[in-house]
Amino acid sequence: MIPVTQPFLPPQEEYQQYLDGIWKRNWLTNMGPLASQLEMELKDHLRVSHLLFVTNGTVAMQMALKALDIKGEVITTPFSFIATTSSIVWEGCTPVFADIDPTSLNIDPSKIEEAITANTTAILATHVYGNPCDVEAIDRIAKKHNLKVIYDAAHAFGVEINGKSIFEYGDISTCSLHATKLYHSVEGGLVITKDSDLLKKLAYIRNFGISGFDSFAELGLNGKNSEFHAAMGLVNLRYISDIFQKRKALADLYDEKLKNLKAVKPVWHSHANNNNAYYPIVLESEELLLKLKTEMDKQEIFTRRYFYPSLAVSLPYLSKVEMLVTDDIAKRVMCLPFYYDLTFEEVELIARTMLRIQNN
Ligand SMILES: *Cc1c(COP(=O)(O)O)cnc(C)c1O
Repeated sequence: MIPVTQPFLPPQEEYQQYLDGIWKRNWLTNMGPLASQLEMELKDHLRVSHLLFVTNGTVAMQMALKALDIKGEVITTPFSFIATTSSIVWEGCTPVFADIDPTSLNIDPSKIEEAITANTTAILATHVYGNPCDVEAIDRIAKKHNLKVIYDAAHAFGVEINGKSIFEYGDISTCSLHATKLYHSVEGGLVITKDSDLLKKLAYIRNFGISGFDSFAELGLNGKNSEFHAAMGLVNLRYISDIFQKRKALADLYDEKLKNLKAVKPVWHSHANNNNAYYPIVLESEELLLKLKTEMDKQEIFTRRYFYPSLAVSLPYLSKVEMLVTDDIAKRVMCLPFYYDLTFEEVELIARTMLRIQNN
């Protein structure tokens, strides 16, 4: 059996050492020493000005929307994980979908402009598979129309544009450190902003809005994360270059072995590195996708239709909107098995199997 994903696990002894410290201190959560250390190490590693370690990537987006006081309509992508849209609805705002670009698979800036109304207050865009959005164009649109920009950068850990962290774009970026992401803390998330006032507000929001022993500064929630999660983040950070190297080698091998597959990959931002968070392919037709998926399922090689279906047609709490490009791409896109412990032999087997099914 080959799963579509599998979490990275470091050597258990290294995690155990952190547990010993936690037991000694008996400080389990509430911005403990390990959580602070993780924030410092990540800030250093990512070279970002400010960052908060929070519960998960979904709460991170809710915190971002709240901190920026977003109301009314938020323009967003229908080609993302459910949490991007549901956070907007959860915060009492209305998601307005703008179609994606057929090559990058990210929200299309020209479609954002068309979707702007008098009630639009923000853009919430996803760097899909870690591939940066057209951040310059989005920034221009936001400035022109006085909109806030939040990036769902859940997939984009370690991505840079011209050497600058992707997390530094927009008013706030959020990341997920969920176990299935390339770098994780079991459950976890990050909120990143360049604005120190905003950071202060986000820090209050993370801790119920508490500003002192008997005082409250903001409406808050519980967005804290624990020492146990921070410890996993700290250990995994030691392996981050191994993780990137292995994933790159696996992706290169897939590229080579799947040359003759009737599929294309998303076109990557020309000034950004690829963090190989996923191995997505867009097949020539949905028919070919279903043929491959059915046969591969039988052989216990699991793939995932990610993202399918479009969020603009599948949510019971929103009216459905057809989006030409998203609807077409969502039908044909598939992520192949891709994780640190996948072997080169398995990649070769997967590629051989796929070509055999296609050519049959
Ligand atoms: C994983 C993911 C999230 C949610 O992150 P959690 O940490 O699981 O809450 C949000 N958006 C995208 C695009 C994701 O892939």
